[in-house]
Amino acid sequence: MHIPFTKPYAAGNELTYVRQVICGDRWAGDGTFSQRCQEWLRGMLNSVEVLLTHSCTAALEMATILCGLEGGDEVIQPSFTHPSTANAVVLRGATPVFVDVRADTLNLDERLIERAITERTKGIIAVHYAGVGCEMDAIIDVARRHDLWVIEDAAQGILSRYKERYLGTLGDVGALSFHETKNVTSGEGGAILINNPRHVARAEVIREMGTNRARFLRGEVDEYVWVDMGSSYLPSEIVAALLLAQLEEIRSLTSRRKEIWRRYHQGLQDLELAGLLKRPFIPANCDHNGHLYYLMMPDQNARSRLIAGLGAREISAHFHFMPLHAAPAGRRFGRAHDRLPVTERAGECLVRLPIWIGIEAHLDRIIAEVTAIVRGSATAAT
Ligand SMILES: *Cc1c(COP(=O)(O)O)cnc(C)c1O
Repeated sequence: MHIPFTKPYAAGNELTYVRQVICGDRWAGDGTFSQRCQEWLRGMLNSVEVLLTHSCTAALEMATILCGLEGGDEVIQPSFTHPSTANAVVLRGATPVFVDVRADTLNLDERLIERAITERTKGIIAVHYAGVGCEMDAIIDVARRHDLWVIEDAAQGILSRYKERYLGTLGDVGALSFHETKNVTSGEGGAILINNPRHVARAEVIREMGTNRARFLRGEVDEYVWVDMGSSYLPSEIVAALLLAQLEEIRSLTSRRKEIWRRYHQGLQDLELAGLLKRPFIPANCDHNGHLYYLMMPDQNARSRLIAGLGAREISAHFHFMPLHAAPAGRRFGRAHDRLPVTERAGECLVRLPIWIGIEAHLDRIIAEVTAIVRGSATAAT
């Protein structure tokens, strides 16, 4: 049987809730299912306000509008991330300034931020790779000293914690993804977490095409008008219905993923001890969510051999982010601060193994195949 890289998992109530929407007369956004998702997320994560969006990409775009980013401004961010992290900056006419990541977590290296700050720097985007938290205390400390805002790209980080606080709730604004490849999903979907009460009113306006429609619906104004810049960022009730069914099961979904992660980690320990690869590192102050399991191979050839070898055995494994600073759009719109050796190594040497709810029955075989390929190629190379 072919083992896919990722696979969405129906948690149970999806069809029931979607049917309720279809049988009712509110299909557009901000109905009861959207409200329930938002309340659920607010309560679970302890954020000041949560608004559903079409995607994490949309939430990041809202965040850069909300923070007042303008042409000529600079934003410090990793290059080892999804293009959306940088597009949100570029779409405002500003420049992403790429800084290297830490070798242990592949998260923005907080020790390199200060040196990259110029008088044009307006903010920092922290990306929590693999759902493992960045060193947020240090990042927020630099931001405070230089009067910068902090956006968290927590696309991969739902329910993960940094020092007991949930990812996405530590900066001024956070962005979550509910894309099919993430831990809970509505196919496409996302949310913006607004942790600074000062930003809530404007976020509602930006999300509803620059109008004060949200206030109108609450009966706070008699008519709604165009008051600011904005776009259409709210998902339909059908999407929210799907998402609510997933959110209701998020704790059990997360613990099942963490168990899969733990089995990979244990099963591949010997390969790390033999110096053949490196496994992920979870800092003691972080609780992760089992979002993805990756291996760092010694070089690009070893990485290609592993991916091809697994593919020949019907197991899908993939590399991950191609560094943005070296991509055509990154060169055109962004700027690398200094060299980015750790980022480049991750771009060349990282392999992600398949992880999804239901893969449990195949794990022993996957671990055995990885071991055979890595040991075999190690023998062939000597
Ligand atoms: C998946 C992902 C995104 C994009 O999420 P969408 O919901 O598909 O827009 C952005 N940033 C990171 C780090 C991601 O992993």
